[in-house]
Amino acid sequence: MSTSASNPYPLVGLRDNERATVMVKDVTIGCGPPVLIAGPCAVETETQMFQAAEMARAAGARLLRGGAFKPRTSPYSFQGLALNGLRLLHQASVGTALPLVTEVVDTRDVETVAQYADMLQIGARNMHNFALLRAVGATRMPVLLKRGVAATIDEWLYAAEYIAQAGGEAIVLCERGIRTFETRTRFTLDVAAVPVLRQLTKLPVMVDPSHAAGERRLVLPLARASLAAGADGLLVELHPDPAKAACDGPQALIGTDIPKLAALMRADHGIRE
Ligand code: PEP
Ligand code: MN
Repeated sequence: MSTSASNPYPLVGLRDNERATVMVKDVTIGCGPPVLIAGPCAVETETQMFQAAEMARAAGARLLRGGAFKPRTSPYSFQGLALNGLRLLHQASVGTALPLVTEVVDTRDVETVAQYADMLQIGARNMHNFALLRAVGATRMPVLLKRGVAATIDEWLYAAEYIAQAGGEAIVLCERGIRTFETRTRFTLDVAAVPVLRQLTKLPVMVDPSHAAGERRLVLPLARASLAAGADGLLVELHPDPAKAACDGPQALIGTDIPKLAALMRADHGIRE
């Protein structure tokens, strides 16, 4: 498909104000109540994953998350449990009846991850990995496409076009914070991306306040701001024992946060237009 100056996004762009919804099993993302995706950063043990999945369900999550393949900045950091992790995630997903969102970081793993997941996550570090974007698109599975830490909104939408071109049109965009000069937060949450994307794309837009915040106490205020800005949902990390977490413990919500998150998800956030 060709593009023109007025329509740079033939597959994911907004036309005639027609918005797309993305179905992950029986869960609809977009054009309705906000959807919560929750779970630990990484799957670590059977007990940890089971407890985290119960926390996610108590928070009102409709989808369960957890990484088995972790895209770590340092090669010396925990890289995930790989196939064993996928098996544990699948178990927790079936046990809670929450469809599973999990990240794939390598084209060679797409087929395997696709067997266990209901939605494939492309992480911030891979938003520009065009071979991976094409590979996940070719599965035609729902894809959660995170924004790259230094990607403009237009670059992000082109990444979505790569996925759609390969055949995967069920794409959800996820703002997760960008790199700025500010160091008091892990990344700077670009809340404005939500209403800006509304003008440019038909795709649903979610927000991940956890990776932007980097710190537990900031997660719920950023989550609230995201829903107020019209996000179609949130992706939030939690952990039964964050002090022992293999990654991203400081930003993981804990048991006492769960009722607050549940109340936030239940609140009326007005019209997401
Ligand atoms: C994650 O969701 O655990 C993750 C690694 O996120 P991001 O790619 O946004 O850093
Ligand atoms: Mn994480």
